[in-house]
Amino acid sequence: MLSTNKDKISRIPGVSLERIAIKISASAEHAITNGHPWLYANAIKHQNKEGKAGDLAVIFDKDRKFLAIGLYDPVSPIRVRILAHSIPVPINEDFFYNRISTALKIRTRLLENTTGYRLIHGGNDKLPGLVVDRYVDTLVIKLYTTSWLPHLEGILSALEAITGCQRIVLRLSRILTNFPELLYQLNDGDILLGPPISSPAKFQENGLWFEIDPVKGHKTGFYLDQRENRVRVKNLAKGKKILNVFSYTGGFSIYAASGGAKDVTCLDISQQALDAAKRNFRLNSDDPLIRISKHKIIKGDAFKVLAELQRNHKLYDMVIIDPPSFAKDQSQVQRAISAYKRLTYLGLNLLQRGGILVQSSCSSQVPAGEFFAAIHNVAKGSGCILKEIERSYHPIDHPIRFKESAYLKCLFASVH
Ligand code: SAH
Repeated sequence: MLSTNKDKISRIPGVSLERIAIKISASAEHAITNGHPWLYANAIKHQNKEGKAGDLAVIFDKDRKFLAIGLYDPVSPIRVRILAHSIPVPINEDFFYNRISTALKIRTRLLENTTGYRLIHGGNDKLPGLVVDRYVDTLVIKLYTTSWLPHLEGILSALEAITGCQRIVLRLSRILTNFPELLYQLNDGDILLGPPISSPAKFQENGLWFEIDPVKGHKTGFYLDQRENRVRVKNLAKGKKILNVFSYTGGFSIYAASGGAKDVTCLDISQQALDAAKRNFRLNSDDPLIRISKHKIIKGDAFKVLAELQRNHKLYDMVIIDPPSFAKDQSQVQRAISAYKRLTYLGLNLLQRGGILVQSSCSSQVPAGEFFAAIHNVAKGSGCILKEIERSYHPIDHPIRFKESAYLKCLFASVH
């Protein structure tokens, strides 16, 4: 471990020995009894004392019966993230060890030819606010609350013991970087274990190679959540001319090429992402189908470029549209749906008759039903009939145990 970051972690004060006792509203009691991992601040009816981030909070029902124990966060609207329901348990390194081992077991089916996957998916693996992605022997921990910081040493030891990983990188959600005074001098991208990263890390997904930058890349470096959709694209790609909109580092494109696509274009606004996509094609040049597939890139704003491609009478057999999240909160949902509709419209204009539209949304605020309905609506308005091939949701390493955590939905449809 780099001594400076090791020192920073060891200087993080431990949690208070005295637990915070909390009584909550009837509706929150109902949710928590049913296993929900969040307690919102506005559901707290009584609290015996204030606490600092990471202190343990015990939640009681109206008869003072134990309901749950979790991590307190004084600055988040999610005031307690629940680690254990119904039965009081000590929260220590053994507890984290058991939680992480259970999460790993669920993922073992993934390990064939795949060295990058999500090991911990927050509250869905009963560790709310904590995400851990694995790329070969590098782990990337992403925190969504400072309440994990006093427990970081225990988490790191458990992760090291279970995975044998050689390097651990820390990533902080955007919300946390708003509170630098609460971060004990830790920074987004800090290496918590192992040597600094001198060249891009590489990992395999279903036998295909990808480079990633765990320190500066989006999310933890890669959109692991689209793995199963990439396989779906591969299976539909043979002989096709494909446009991959919001391509990032070319994930869908590489799969399409390996499925026999004859021509694949990546479109993204980021030159860095497109340069990585080019390198990813090169990394897989041993694959004969990828070698012979034509690969092009277009840098630009998707909304403008798609309209321009239409003006130039370009047509494709498949258009993949996987944009960033358009809605951060409820107030942005209508605007997000309008943006999805605009993209559907632009995508449909570029598809041959019988071509395939693949459109995905990662905005948790936009319900799946509304997203799919919006796509159909636009198709109808454009005089097309969409024949659905498949609707897909979360992959197995991004399980969903409570409804607020569902964000991913994707439609595969042929256009007539
Ligand atoms: N489909 C990708 C992930 C997409 S992430 C994958 O499977 O890996 C969203 C991407 O959209 C990012 O690479 C970002 O650079 C790009 N982006 C954001 N706004 C854009 C815009 N207006 N036009 C084109 N690309 C954009």
